[in-house]
Amino acid sequence: MPLKRLLAKRTENMGASAIREILKVVSQPGMVSLAGGIPAPESFPLEIMTELTARVIEKYGSQAFQYDLTEGFTPLREILAEYLKERGVKAKPDEVIVGTGSQGFLDAMGKALITPGDKVAVEAPTYLGAIQALNPYEPDYISIATDDSGVIPDSLEEVLKNNEIKLIYLVPTFQNPTGRTITLERRKKIAALIIKYRALLIEDDPYSMLRYRGEPLPPIKTLAPDNTVYISTLSKVFAPGLRLGFCAAPPVILRWLVLVKQGVDLHTSTFNQALAAEYMAGGYLERHLPKILGIYKPKQEAMLSALSMYFPADFYFSRPEGGMFIWVAGNLDMDVVYEKAIEKNVAFVPGKYFFTKKGEGKGTMRLNYTMSDEATIDRAIKTLSGVIRNFK
Ligand code: PMP
Repeated sequence: MPLKRLLAKRTENMGASAIREILKVVSQPGMVSLAGGIPAPESFPLEIMTELTARVIEKYGSQAFQYDLTEGFTPLREILAEYLKERGVKAKPDEVIVGTGSQGFLDAMGKALITPGDKVAVEAPTYLGAIQALNPYEPDYISIATDDSGVIPDSLEEVLKNNEIKLIYLVPTFQNPTGRTITLERRKKIAALIIKYRALLIEDDPYSMLRYRGEPLPPIKTLAPDNTVYISTLSKVFAPGLRLGFCAAPPVILRWLVLVKQGVDLHTSTFNQALAAEYMAGGYLERHLPKILGIYKPKQEAMLSALSMYFPADFYFSRPEGGMFIWVAGNLDMDVVYEKAIEKNVAFVPGKYFFTKKGEGKGTMRLNYTMSDEATIDRAIKTLSGVIRNFK
């Protein structure tokens, strides 16, 4: 039976991710992957999981295994509200909801807000997973220009002035894919602009906890609370497989996110939420976070110094103070570089995949440093540099 003809029209917008194909290459024996974007397994707090599990069972008993509120497990929402308060985000526990990863909120935002043809403004480049989440709702994307300090406010203003924008989607801190962070001055300008144009911002913030240098910056949510849906996750600071994200949003949006979630999965795993509540309230996160930073910081430094040492002087690379990615730009077709690089057993993601417009980002690449050790990173960047220099 030709099942393909049964597929909904919206699936035309949902093509298989090219990155998945790249990640298949990565699993080949001997391949060094600078392509993925996943946390290092040694960053998971395995040594405390037995203890946490015992505490959950002792404290919550069968409640941890029962159906629960769609909004989330109350003790976790309470601790998340405190956590957000420390970052300047004022939200009462009932103004915070828990989701199955932060990814689910991106889909829910699309489902609740986007009618086909609505305009969504995104950074160029932007997080591919957001495009994948929103695509089925058939938005038109409008690009906002960025530079080394993140979104360029004048470009955002042009976009807001000339278009009816339904949603703006930004990753302001240690962005995926560039690693770049929007400066404080620009955050203030962006906040003023979204208030002026009565725009709604999704501030996606999975990486700000992974800061290796410099001072933390306030989320844009703190500067324009009524215009911002703040989304974050425990994937990078606990364990991504537990699928725990959270969101603080204006009441109307929050209500719709809950209604959407009810229809999708009723609620996020109660047991996993209880584990997270204990992890955060018991002070485990506070003690474990320095270990995670201690794993990533030297890896990032190894990559930055290898890039300075080996890459051609006319190549740009970002120098993030945290996160999981470095962005490279040079005057070469990185698809061609990619083909040669995998012959030499080094994989990365050509940057073009992170742009919504065809033809953009040809000369860019995203590098990840969380999955390899420092010596391997050094060797891989040297190899990559050799491949690049062969083209020049
Ligand atoms: N947003 C961004 C910018 C990400 O990089 C990721 C993870 N790759 C996510 C959202 C989704 O993370 P999770 O669903 O694990 O919370």
